[in-house]
Amino acid sequence: MSKNLQDIKIDGKRVIVRCDFNVPIEDGKIVDDTRIIESLETLKYVVERASKTIILSHLGRIKKEEDKAKNTLYPVYEYLKNKLSDDIVFVDYNSDLSKIIDSNKIIMFENTRFFDLDNKKESNCDLELSKYFASLGDVYVNDAFGVSHRKNASNVGISQYILSCKGFLIQKEEKMLNKIKDNPDKPFIVIMGGSKISDKITLIDKLITKTDKFIISGAMAFTFLHVKGYNVGKSLIYEDSIDYVKDLLNKYSDKIILPIDFYVSDNFSNEGRRELKKIDQFNDNDMGLDIGPETINLYRKVLANGKTIFINGPVGAFEFSNYSYGTRELCNILNNLHSFIVVGGGDSASAFKKYNANVSFISTGGGAALEYIEGKDLPGLNI
Ligand code: AMP
Repeated sequence: MSKNLQDIKIDGKRVIVRCDFNVPIEDGKIVDDTRIIESLETLKYVVERASKTIILSHLGRIKKEEDKAKNTLYPVYEYLKNKLSDDIVFVDYNSDLSKIIDSNKIIMFENTRFFDLDNKKESNCDLELSKYFASLGDVYVNDAFGVSHRKNASNVGISQYILSCKGFLIQKEEKMLNKIKDNPDKPFIVIMGGSKISDKITLIDKLITKTDKFIISGAMAFTFLHVKGYNVGKSLIYEDSIDYVKDLLNKYSDKIILPIDFYVSDNFSNEGRRELKKIDQFNDNDMGLDIGPETINLYRKVLANGKTIFINGPVGAFEFSNYSYGTRELCNILNNLHSFIVVGGGDSASAFKKYNANVSFISTGGGAALEYIEGKDLPGLNI
C-alpha cells in the first residue's frame, strides 16, 4: 500500500518532488499552465516543511542533442520563481549537484529526459540513474500523474531506493477517476469523441456495461454510422474497427447514441465549405467535421438526466474555428448541469479548457488517465 505525503514526516528533510511539467511551450512562453498550477499544493506543502525541495520533471521527448533547446524547463523555472518562491534555483545536470543542494533551499533540475541521450537512461528506468536520483534526497514525493503509466528512472526507479509517497495531485486524480472507474452514481453517461477507435476499445469495453447512455461523437461516429448503412461520404472511417463496431451496435443498441446532423466540408481544413446536413443527406464529397444543432439538442436532453458524466475527446475537429461549434456548445450544456463531470484522456483536456468548461475535474493525465480508468495497473502509482 503506497503512502501519502501527509502521512510522512518530512520536516527538516531533503525532499525530492517529481512533477509533471510536460506543458505546451511556444517561443519560451507557457501556453497552458494547468499542470503547474495543479502541482503547487504539493510544492508549497513541501517547501514549508522540508530543509531542501528538489524538483524533477520531464518535458517532451529527447532523441537528439538539438531537441534539448526546445525542451528546456527554464520557462517553468521562471514561472515557479513567480508563483512558488523567489528562492528557487535552476540547475543543469552538468553542475556539481550535491554542492548546489547544500547551498540552496529550492532546487529545480533540468528536464530528466536529457538523460535519454545516453542509452535512454530515464525512459528505460536505468538502475544507476535511479540510484543517482535517490541519492539526492531523503524522501521522494511522486506527483507526476501524467507519466504514471511509464516506468522511468525519475518515478518508478527512484522509488525503489528511498522512502516514497504520493503527492496531493496524484491523490486527487485517483479519487476523481475512481468515481468513474468503480461505481459511478447513476444515471452514468459517457461522451466519447476524438478519432481512432482502436485506441479506445479497452476504454469502451470497460465503461459501456456501466453506462446508461453512451454518446459516440467526433470522427469516431462515422464508422458507426457507416456500419448502420449511411453514406458518410469522405468522413473518417476506421476499417480495422468495423467488426468491433458491428458487435457493439448489436449488443448495446439501446445505449449508444449517434449524431443526427453535421457540419460538412470538402476536406480536413478550416478553408472549405461549411454546410449543415442531416446524416441521411450526405453525398460522396461530404466530410463531416462537426456535429450540428439538432445533435446538440439531443445531447442536451440526454445529459440533463446524468448524475455522473465522463467525457473523452472533442465532438468535432475543434482546432478549426469553423468546426468548433459542437465542442463549444457541449461546454455550454455542461456549464448548466449540476452533475459530477470528469474530462480525461488524450487531448480532451485542452479542448474543454479552451472553452472554459466548468466541470468537476479535468485530469492532468492523457494516456495515464485512460489506462487508469481501463483498470490497468500503473507502475508509477505502485510506489
Ligand atoms: P483523440 O486524440 O482520439 O481524442 O482525437 C482528437 C482529435 O479528433 C482532434 O484533433 C480532433 O480534430 C479530431 N476530430 C474530432 N472530430 C473529428 C471529425 N469529425 N473529423 C476528423 N477529426 C475529428
